[in-house]
Amino acid sequence: MRMSKSFIYTTKETPKDAELKSHQYLLRGGYIQQVGSGIYNLLPLGDRVLENIKSVIQKHMNKSGAQELTLGFVTPASFWQKSGRYEKYGKELLRFKDRKDQDFVLGPTYEEGIVECIKGVVKSYKQLPINLYQIHLKFRDEVRPRFGLIRGREFVMKDAYSFHSSTQDLDREFDLMEQTYRAIFDELGIKYAVVEADSGAIGGSGSKEFMLLAECGEDTLITCPSCGYASNIEAARRHPRQTTPLSMQPQKIHTPNLKTINELSNHLNLPSEVILKCIIKGVKTLSGNKTALFFVLGDDELEETKALNALSKRDGEVLELFDLDMQSMQDFKLGFVGLGAEADFVIFDEAIEVGKTYLSGANEQDYHQICDFQGGDQDDLVLIREGDECPNCSAKMRYQKGIEVGHIFKLGTKYSDPMGATFLDQNGKAQPFIMGCYGIGVSRILSAFIEQNHDERGIIWNEVLAPFECMVIVSNIKNQAQREEGEKIYEHLIAQGKRVLFDERDERFGVKMSDFELLGIPQAILVGKELESGKIELIDRKTLSKQSLSFEAFLGE
Ligand code: ATP
Ligand code: MG
Repeated sequence: MRMSKSFIYTTKETPKDAELKSHQYLLRGGYIQQVGSGIYNLLPLGDRVLENIKSVIQKHMNKSGAQELTLGFVTPASFWQKSGRYEKYGKELLRFKDRKDQDFVLGPTYEEGIVECIKGVVKSYKQLPINLYQIHLKFRDEVRPRFGLIRGREFVMKDAYSFHSSTQDLDREFDLMEQTYRAIFDELGIKYAVVEADSGAIGGSGSKEFMLLAECGEDTLITCPSCGYASNIEAARRHPRQTTPLSMQPQKIHTPNLKTINELSNHLNLPSEVILKCIIKGVKTLSGNKTALFFVLGDDELEETKALNALSKRDGEVLELFDLDMQSMQDFKLGFVGLGAEADFVIFDEAIEVGKTYLSGANEQDYHQICDFQGGDQDDLVLIREGDECPNCSAKMRYQKGIEVGHIFKLGTKYSDPMGATFLDQNGKAQPFIMGCYGIGVSRILSAFIEQNHDERGIIWNEVLAPFECMVIVSNIKNQAQREEGEKIYEHLIAQGKRVLFDERDERFGVKMSDFELLGIPQAILVGKELESGKIELIDRKTLSKQSLSFEAFLGE
């Protein structure tokens, strides 16, 4: 492509509101253009990178036996009503009506769309397994779209859905997808971690996330340097805690103004791990608001995703947690809530041991109580912290930050069951399909990759993602010899099938160099002063090192 005729416009100014380098460079390099909050045009450069990412994904997905298709972008609301997600999905789901007053949604994900697609078409176990994928737009009306393509409202996702007649076969496909994803991310040249994950709004049993490691990542991962255990904080586990027993007789203690764990621990001279902390939350459900009490050890913290998952497991109508107003908190005797308190949900963290003695609120203003925990509804509720022990090998774990670029789930019959999508098994009996689903944030990768690969001057693509493999730069276009040599080299490389960007603009040399550095194309062939001695210069974008040689020597390399 000739730069003088291209739709490539770079700018020096750092766009306001663009916090991350990836966002700044993509805007400044003319890769993307903002249309609205979380909505971007992919300009020719950006589109080329996206196509490169897509083709790596397609290559490996096709190799795994999955088949590509494209589902309609606009989805009838009836599909989402059948699965029960039309009401449950929340405000990220954009709902609208057409001129006939019929309801539609812009697909944020396509479990419903794919189930409707194969329902009645795939009829027998003999037609299974099948894995179908698309690389297409998604729309999620995110609360806080930001970081350019990392959290857009409109974005490109690769979403695959597999259908099986047994859970063993789903397990096999899940492992195959994990291997396929590893091959994709390896080929893309991304540094990533595969972590245990929470299944979120999509639901299901097993799930793993592929996290691109980057400081700016919105996800916190916990990793074990010793055995390799890695998990999203939302699903993290730890080795069971050993706490010192409290040897005190059951009693009520007058504790005026002692409301926090710290105050109690200092005043009564007790370690905070023998004090029970109660977190009071409001719970929004399909049938109205409820309240929940979560008990954890005094020096532990509640992990809200775990808390929400614990509630969802117990009640399918649960939507989200919210903070109660001061008055409702006071009704619970805030600061003095303890064992025996009542609410719609009362859940105890699994680190609280049955039969052990604890200090907790006495459910009475200004009183606490020493009493034994007699048992109750228990679950994993706590935030795992740096320094906590690995669940597998007990080594101390640490935090890392990541950007989620892929997620694989075992869905089971979560969608096929309510949507009545069945096949006939070997005995001629109708069974719901057993499903898996597998996503990759294709447009997010474009930004996220730059977070790992940039310097103060701009982007540093590798050859796989780069919009062009190399640039031919004519230093002074007014110099006839340079111009002609540049043309010759450009035409030659194009004839070889290379992806080349030819900078033959009538611009200062400095402008051309800084554009080369900003755009991040891996290599430049500079036709400049050295031409007088028959040489060109090769510039490596990553190291910015230069090498003089003849063009013939370059071709012979
Ligand atoms: P996140 O936790 O980042 O919101 P998610 O868990 O909602 O992501 P999935 O439903 O698993 O995401 O979607 C599959 C993939 O789509 C994600 O792994 C991510 O790479 C990408 N993705 C999700 N939301 C966005 C978004 N708003 N903008 C760009 N890519 C996204
Ligand atoms: Mg996810």
